[in-house]
Amino acid sequence: MQFESLQLIEPILKAVKEEGYTTPTPIQAQAIPIVLKGSDLLGCAQTGTGKTAAFAIPIIQLLSAAPATNQKKKIRSLIVTPTRELAIQIGESFKAYGRHTHLNGTVVFGGVGQSPQVTALKRGVDILVATPGRLLDLMSQGYISLHDVEIFVLDEADRMLDMGFIHDVKKLLAALPKKRQTLFFSATMPPEIVKLAGSILHQPEKVSVTPVSSTVDIIQQQVFFVDKGNKISLLLEILNDKNIKTALVFTRTKHGADKVVRTLQKHHIKAEAIHGNKAQNARQRALANFKAQTTRVLVATDIAARGIDVDDLEYVINYEISNLPETYVHRIGRTGRAGARGTAFSFCDAEEKEYLRDIEKLIGKKIPVVESHSFPLTDHHPVKAPKQQQGKRNTGYSGHKHSSNNSAKKNYGKPKTPRY
Ligand code: AMP
Repeated sequence: MQFESLQLIEPILKAVKEEGYTTPTPIQAQAIPIVLKGSDLLGCAQTGTGKTAAFAIPIIQLLSAAPATNQKKKIRSLIVTPTRELAIQIGESFKAYGRHTHLNGTVVFGGVGQSPQVTALKRGVDILVATPGRLLDLMSQGYISLHDVEIFVLDEADRMLDMGFIHDVKKLLAALPKKRQTLFFSATMPPEIVKLAGSILHQPEKVSVTPVSSTVDIIQQQVFFVDKGNKISLLLEILNDKNIKTALVFTRTKHGADKVVRTLQKHHIKAEAIHGNKAQNARQRALANFKAQTTRVLVATDIAARGIDVDDLEYVINYEISNLPETYVHRIGRTGRAGARGTAFSFCDAEEKEYLRDIEKLIGKKIPVVESHSFPLTDHHPVKAPKQQQGKRNTGYSGHKHSSNNSAKKNYGKPKTPRY
């Protein structure tokens, strides 16, 4: 199927072509016709499936087909998404797909000064992309009115609930016109999401793509069993492979992310962290450096990384495995975007083995194990291991130096490098 067969207007077809897209992704092929005919939509899809274009393209088409009658522009479409990064990326997508139309839009999110956002709003926008907190804030100050919203999109609803935005969402819903078109997207559909969707959608058509397991199928996944204290050495060994131009590394905590970055920097690997403790502009800068490949390794926590969209990101490394199996899918979904190649490595210590089992259950397959690497797991029962011994094993993660009798160092450049 081609974009031409979706009855799209010329300015959109042109923009899509300029983006380099040739065929619609499955979510686009299914969702675009539904949105174009004005129906509500319940979409079960995660980022990486092309879902942003699946709603942005038909919204642009609907709004440009029926131009606003009012003199001053009013917000006709509102897209609410949980994180700043997602908001910015959605804003960029609208700009890209709508560049040959007269429509304009802006993005509002917290953590930055509000005055440039207020200035943009005062000029008048057709499309507003927002995170919930700043949106409500600007509404309460009278800078935003939702009275004229025709199409409302709730993006990443499951994440929204996870992040505690349910009350904000309810407040927004109360401020939206009853008569509107609503598009609801969520990567997962737990009961509370189904309930929320039921309460805000009107006779929705359902679209579900790439169930978790099939999305991850195109990503080459491998697991390395390794002692906790040797993870940094294993990471250094893997990064010794110059074919790895960039890698997104996930840690569980902000502190852990900073620690990994410091150690990589000491080993002259350009690395930056992206997490909630970083100021918004520092996060944006880190992301821009990573996209430009001036930073080779971006170390991220889950919330900060949600929605990070880096074209051609080939490597995702789970430095620590999350206890939530769905997080694994979201993490590795940063690579292999829209059918591109991707590789995901997971470092699994003894404590994380049960998380790995949950992940394998969710994705419905065993993740191949890399047997021959320099730091095989020795500490099978970390809880029972005497403290003294654990400390000994931890020498690989001693911070500033990579001890010279460390096996990683000895193996650098030797043929017996891990098979990955
Ligand atoms: P999303 O799921 O919206 O975060 O999109 C994931 C990635 O796929 C983004 O980098 C988009 O630019 C890209 N993309 C979206 N639609 C297409 C398409 N039809 N063909 C190729 N790439 C696409």
